Amino acid sequence: MKVLVVGAGPTGLTAAIELTRLGLSPRIIDRRDSASTLSRAVGITSRSLELLSKSGVSEKLIAEGIAVQAACIYLDTRLALEFPLHSDRTYFPTILGLPQDRTESLMAQVLSGMGVEVEYQKELTFLTESEGGVVAQFNAGEEERFDLVIGADGIHSTVREAAGINYPGFDLEEEWSIADVDTDGWPPKRKFTLVKMESGVVAVAVPLGEGRHRLVASCDDAIGAFPMALDIKRVRRQGTFNISVRQAETYSKGRIHLAGDAAHCHSPVGGRGMNLGIADAAELAARVVAGRLTGYSELRHREDKKVINVTEHGRKIVTGQSLKARFEFRALIAAANSLPTVRRKLGQFAVEL
Ligand SMILES: Cc1cc2nc3c(=O)[nH]c(=O)nc-3n(C[C@H](O)[C@H](O)[C@H](O)COP(=O)(O)OP(=O)(O)OC[C@H]3O[C@@H](n4cnc5c(N)ncnc54)[C@H](O)[C@@H]3O)c2cc1C
Repeated sequence: MKVLVVGAGPTGLTAAIELTRLGLSPRIIDRRDSASTLSRAVGITSRSLELLSKSGVSEKLIAEGIAVQAACIYLDTRLALEFPLHSDRTYFPTILGLPQDRTESLMAQVLSGMGVEVEYQKELTFLTESEGGVVAQFNAGEEERFDLVIGADGIHSTVREAAGINYPGFDLEEEWSIADVDTDGWPPKRKFTLVKMESGVVAVAVPLGEGRHRLVASCDDAIGAFPMALDIKRVRRQGTFNISVRQAETYSKGRIHLAGDAAHCHSPVGGRGMNLGIADAAELAARVVAGRLTGYSELRHREDKKVINVTEHGRKIVTGQSLKARFEFRALIAAANSLPTVRRKLGQFAVEL
């Protein structure tokens, strides 16, 4: 079976690795010149590690990543809550911190070891389904027929657009910011830190490695947003981004299937974007090989929807300025501070989501 995977982000790489592991020889293309150097997603969940363990990717990720041990919540400069990030019911007991470019690089290494190379500088420019196959056009020139196409080409997916699949949802107005920094001292090395300011701004620090953190804030200055002094040695990257919350109406149309950001996007609260893409891709690859594609769209649409809803609820509680949102946030902190079971369950929920 001739399978084309469009996009070599974490979703496309997972699809290609799993298809190859299960006996197919997919093509995987990307329009970029070379592998991405952007750190984007920083938290790998236990579920992703479990899925990627079959191909040997996980052991490389675990060897390089940093196990995040606890989460701290500050109200302005006051530490209001700390709880362990731990589950003993999962493949990996906590969340693994690693920049996305390293995750992608280790995946591409494993794929290369299986004999499949990413074809860079190859852009899918058009796609049309005809009898018995899908014709893909590359770089507005050469055309080739495939039995099946996987659109793992991100939020502005050409595959999705060519297939005429709607991507309903909404775009949030506020601008968020991000910075990858080398630090010494605060923020804590192996802890996820969330600071909620009286002003409504939220700032988050996630460990990326020894002495390296990802800072994110719901305003235009991720570094300046923190009310406490940060000991920053070097700023590796800084920028702003906007959040969209969208989900494709269907993930499958004939011989064309979507996975990852091509199928859904949401806020980074909860850090699930990349992880959902890995889960979509692993499920899709297994179904392609087993010839069981019916039901892929329904299953993954439902599973992803649950996470998008939880993530949106979390975003509203964490960033919300309404009385209800403030009450829910403080009530959660009070309950967790007085009941060890609530603290344990919070940490377990975060690891198992
Ligand atoms: C600033 C920022 C911070 C984030 N933080 C987190 C986080 O902490 N945790 C988390 O889980 N997620 C996070 N995300 C989201 C995460 O990065 C995405 O969910 C993830 O990258 C999706 O992977 P993907 O493979 O589906 O798509 P992408 O990573 O977007 O990859 C798509 C690939 O397709 C290629 N492509 C596109 N069109 C074509 C075409 N026509 N032909 C050929 N190739 C094409 C692109 O070049 C790209 O390489 C963040 C995102 C951003 C922007």
